[in-house]
Amino acid sequence: MGKITIAIDGYSSTGKSTLAKQLAHALGYIYVDTGAMYRAVTLFALRAGLIKDSRTDDLLLIKALPDIHLNFQFNEDLGFAEMYLNGENVEKEIRQLEVSKFVSKIAIIGAVRDKLVEMQRAMGKDKGLVMDGRDIGTVVFPDAELKIFMTASPDARAARRYKELLDRGEEVSYEEVLKNVQERDYIDSNREHSPLKKAADAIEFDNTDMGLKEQFERIQNFAERVIEKV
Ligand code: C5P
Repeated sequence: MGKITIAIDGYSSTGKSTLAKQLAHALGYIYVDTGAMYRAVTLFALRAGLIKDSRTDDLLLIKALPDIHLNFQFNEDLGFAEMYLNGENVEKEIRQLEVSKFVSKIAIIGAVRDKLVEMQRAMGKDKGLVMDGRDIGTVVFPDAELKIFMTASPDARAARRYKELLDRGEEVSYEEVLKNVQERDYIDSNREHSPLKKAADAIEFDNTDMGLKEQFERIQNFAERVIEKV
């Protein structure tokens, strides 16, 4: 049976990565979380002092891009690949609210996007992968055989992200998380380079009131039907 590329895009905290991991596991495909790559570049910028008073020094970051080495390493115990920045496992740090606050500003920078999109295309050259992000079906793999676009109400999404952060021991308020989700969606949807938008041929899923199991089963069904035809 032939392999396909599955592109999952959508708003923040719509459960894209949960779905992508489930699908990759069920199909024996590779899962790539492109948000982790933008988050790792943001962590680099924060550590290098390139984000001060909420302003990013885009020129210095672009100059430093050759010093940013990203790779994923599969963690057998967790069952998914973790993000490494210059050889260091940064999986935990990149999920912190501090990184979420700046990541969309870093993701605006064209040179950052060019570098990461090139890496993403290389990872997908043999197909057999599920990639999630904001521009996968529109820019990274416009020819992907299956494209999913995920949405949910801002409240449902903020509540999920809030719970996730609390479970990880971060001290955050619900209002702060809701504000971050809304701000990121705004910046991601209105930026000049590769804005977040539904590809014309993507299937839209609103999971505000849909359980994870039902959502997964419906999308797995779609995927199997597409795979049968290739
Ligand atoms: O998916 P996640 O919420 O971790 O993504 C973090 C941020 O990275 C997004 O809000 C967006 O600004 C940026 N991003 C992007 N393009 C992608 C993936 C993520 O611009 N393909």
